[in-house]
Amino acid sequence: MKRFTILAAAISLLMSLALPIAVAAPSLGSKCNREGEVAHMSQLLICAKVGKVLKYVAATPDAIGAPSRPSAVVPAKNVDPTVLKAFTSFNHSACTQPHQHIVMTYLTSPNYSQNMVDGQKALLEKAASCYDAYFDRQININVVMATEKDYDFLAAQKTNGQPVFDDIRLRWLKFMTGRITPVQGKLGGTFAGSAGWNPATDSGWLILLDATANKTPDPHVASHEFVHVLQSFSKSVFFPNYGDGSSEVDYVNMPPWFWEGTAELFSYDSISSQPGYLTLYMAETRMQGRQGPNQNKISTPAALVTTMQELKSSPNGQSNMLSYALGSQVCEYILATYGYSKYWQIMKNAGQFKNFDENIKSAIGLTQDELFLKSAPFVLSQWKLS
Ligand SMILES: [Zn+2]
Repeated sequence: MKRFTILAAAISLLMSLALPIAVAAPSLGSKCNREGEVAHMSQLLICAKVGKVLKYVAATPDAIGAPSRPSAVVPAKNVDPTVLKAFTSFNHSACTQPHQHIVMTYLTSPNYSQNMVDGQKALLEKAASCYDAYFDRQININVVMATEKDYDFLAAQKTNGQPVFDDIRLRWLKFMTGRITPVQGKLGGTFAGSAGWNPATDSGWLILLDATANKTPDPHVASHEFVHVLQSFSKSVFFPNYGDGSSEVDYVNMPPWFWEGTAELFSYDSISSQPGYLTLYMAETRMQGRQGPNQNKISTPAALVTTMQELKSSPNGQSNMLSYALGSQVCEYILATYGYSKYWQIMKNAGQFKNFDENIKSAIGLTQDELFLKSAPFVLSQWKLS
């Protein structure tokens, strides 16, 4: 009898251990305990108050910040301290001021709807304000907005009598316009962007490609591409081909994880009106790593270092996705820990050092591998939420 009791107790203990795990698997509409908790299943979910009950609701980019769903944001008290610092370190007030140095020329295709043009312009003008202080002289940027029908339009664009896009960039445009063309009613992708610096015209260029079916712009692409203009400008003196559509993309002085991670982080930071939105957006960014076969292996600091080392070498399908998804988390740690001006110092000095390790060693006293290890507790805590 006694043995039975012990066995029964053991079983009930096992059950009580197993139970929370089974109950905790979040799904759309299932109950949750902590407002603002973010979960990834087949989609991004957030724990929000629906009536008087806490439930998981879909947290799509469209829902983020939408005034009709004020509860679907991470409350300030539940924001991770590092994410909070990454939010407060970003110069949000600059984004509301007029810009002094940046002059944009808009080259818009007639196929790009007026609503899309207006939306993108608002986002680009805001981005110009956010990053105006990056430049100490007047900067011209040619912004091209086009659709899948506009390859010929793109090829015909000129600035100061010179083609805006060279042959290599045009090849990319041919590929991308093809990608956003519906095949049997289905879209391979709905938008794409690219940006860089053209030393021949001494101006930046920025492309926003959208399927004609798109009615409103993605909220972060304009700002993401804008950050690439800053990065390309930084490198232009020492890497004159960079950003000019060159095939000799030089990732030595700014590795892909920093290149894309910064663009993701800064763009999402710039459009977040409060830290709770940044939390959600960064969770959304991590979704891009979901398909990567390595994703679930990144659970220890050593595994993080190994994966980040892989991202430093030549890009492939997985490392492309992880440069955004994982790179942005390391970038978030840099911004939170060392601040905005140190961050800009790293970007501006990229061309001054033989390699990126020397650059960040000079700015923050760490090599990349040391940085990965130091950032690991934060990055892994965020990665677990993915
Ligand atoms: Zn990018």
